[in-house]
Amino acid sequence: MSERKVRVRFAPSPTGALHIGGVRTALYNYLFAKQHGGDMILRIEDTDSQRFVPGAEAYIVEALEWLGIKFDEGVGYGGDFAPYRQSERKEIYRKYVNQLLDADKAYIAFDTPAELEAKRQEVANFQYDATTRGGMRNSLTMSKDEVDALIASGHPYVVRFKIEPGEEVVVDDLIRGKVTINSSILDDKVLYKSADNLPTYHLANIVDDHLMEVSHVIRGEEWLPSAPLHVLLYRAFGWDDTMPRFAHLPLLLKPEGNGKLSKRDGDRLGFPVFPLEWHDPKTGDVSSGYRESGYLPEAVINFLALLGWNPGNDEEIFSMDELIKLFSLDRCSKSGARFDYEKGKWFNHKYLQTKSNEELATLFTPILASHGITDVEPEKLAQIIGLVKERVSFVKELWNQTTFFFVAPETFSAKDIKKRWKADTPAILEELITILEGIADFSSASTESVVIPWIEQKGYHMGNVMNAFRLAVVGECRGPHMFDITEIIGRDETIRRLRTAMTTITIANE
Ligand code: GLU
Repeated sequence: MSERKVRVRFAPSPTGALHIGGVRTALYNYLFAKQHGGDMILRIEDTDSQRFVPGAEAYIVEALEWLGIKFDEGVGYGGDFAPYRQSERKEIYRKYVNQLLDADKAYIAFDTPAELEAKRQEVANFQYDATTRGGMRNSLTMSKDEVDALIASGHPYVVRFKIEPGEEVVVDDLIRGKVTINSSILDDKVLYKSADNLPTYHLANIVDDHLMEVSHVIRGEEWLPSAPLHVLLYRAFGWDDTMPRFAHLPLLLKPEGNGKLSKRDGDRLGFPVFPLEWHDPKTGDVSSGYRESGYLPEAVINFLALLGWNPGNDEEIFSMDELIKLFSLDRCSKSGARFDYEKGKWFNHKYLQTKSNEELATLFTPILASHGITDVEPEKLAQIIGLVKERVSFVKELWNQTTFFFVAPETFSAKDIKKRWKADTPAILEELITILEGIADFSSASTESVVIPWIEQKGYHMGNVMNAFRLAVVGECRGPHMFDITEIIGRDETIRRLRTAMTTITIANE
């Protein structure tokens, strides 16, 4: 059994946008598969027609593609075990349902929703199981003729799993160890519904994991309660020997650490819980996504990798390839992982710094265009970005840091005027203009080597003169090195801005 090829699957139900927790599940499956030279399968579990949402499947595929989580087989990728969409596998499931029925490991039940509801009213904590099934309308209590007649008449029915009570069921989990429960607490789960000729999640999931030769089931903690039932189903089919190993990942918790992370937390605290923007086809609501919010896929991957797994030291920056090497289920935690979205921003900052100025310029160009700026030379833009990139965590923040390179300030910060604009400032700036006009090489270092000694030699207040200069050029006292700015905007523009400030600020003071 240890020789078995590693084959894992990501098996989302297309019921809406993929939650960020689901992305982490996909990521851990991918890392595990690639580390072991195994296969990663995309299976779409769309057997619940009530909850099917159009567009969800395409969304899932697009989101994982954006993040660089690749599949070897599955919906959209093909493979030897196709089809990979469960709604296209009806006949297969029907066959396995019949197998359980024939082996007396499942039975047909006709109880209508109203009858079941009446039972629940009558019996406190009613559960359809070994203690109650004898009093219900099913193939165990009715004659074969009655059953056949009801089916022939088109009466809807379900197939239930016949769980034998009093058995110890052990789920051997690679993260949680052995989890043991008694089968008596389980109910006779519905495996199939005649109404839509579809199996339920449990049956389809087990049959497909078996047929697709899945070796490891790595999924969210919310599926742990279903695992004993799944173990029993493997046993009922006689597939114990090839039962996949289970690993249930810890929950993603609210940023405050209490309770499960929800979309509401994202809305409340202003961070996305979806990888891509999601347009809900039913409500028309739009939810923000990591991609549209300006996150880099590498940053999202690195951030998610560390939510529930740790490398055993305090290193934090890992590429996908490094994660593939280092990941291990042993180092996944049992307890929930607090969703520290500030840390997500930190990762984005780090990854942004690794991008070349040219790459960032390409990403920034559409944002500039949205502000009406379309005529910046690429080299110049790259140079500008190089001056400010350390200050930003998102490409869109570049605009605020660089506006003054493209647009002359129209207003000047009142606070900075108060602090830096003195009675003699206009006269000094007039002198500065003359100095600037006389500089042969207007590059940053050259200009600096003339202006600074001039201020010193004149005995002017260095801070006041340089800040008044900055105020005039930038509009406020912030930004990168002053002479880097003047080099980029050029002598004429620098002098023009000084003159505008000298007029405007004087007027404002009167
Ligand atoms: N279809 C289930 C889901 O939506 C799959 C759970 C599993 O991986 O077994 O997450």
